Amino acid sequence: MTDCLFCKIVSGEIPASKVFENDSVLGFKDINPVAPIHLLFIPKVHVENFVEACDHEGLIEEVFQGISSYLSQNDLSEDHFRVVSNKGERAGQSVFHLHFHLIGNRSLSWPPG
Ligand code: 5GP
Ligand code: ZN
Repeated sequence: MTDCLFCKIVSGEIPASKVFENDSVLGFKDINPVAPIHLLFIPKVHVENFVEACDHEGLIEEVFQGISSYLSQNDLSEDHFRVVSNKGERAGQSVFHLHFHLIGNRSLSWPPG
């Protein structure tokens, strides 16, 4: 999608601090971190949210496999994290290309705001 911020990060048009990449998934640092670890994992194909993603068989699993690979490659699998995807404006979604926030390295309260 030409007008999508995260598609532009995938294509390299907009720079990002990448932490993980394979054929189908990209992980990069959030530009406005809310925790010592705040990464975003996205599918390289453009889908707006996880509901739309479910029309693409295996896509969400690929993103979660990417997160898991990132954690094991960085010896973080035993750490404590929150993985969250905001769907829709009222839930806090501001970029309409599916992304999962990986947030960690601090205590996290529940429920979220
Ligand atoms: P959302 O609000 O849609 O759940 O999450 C979007 C996230 O993208 C936000 O946490 C925001 O800080 C991050 N973000 C917005 N613009 C950029 C950017 O240009 N680069 C990076 N790395 N993150 C961004
Ligand atoms: Zn996109």
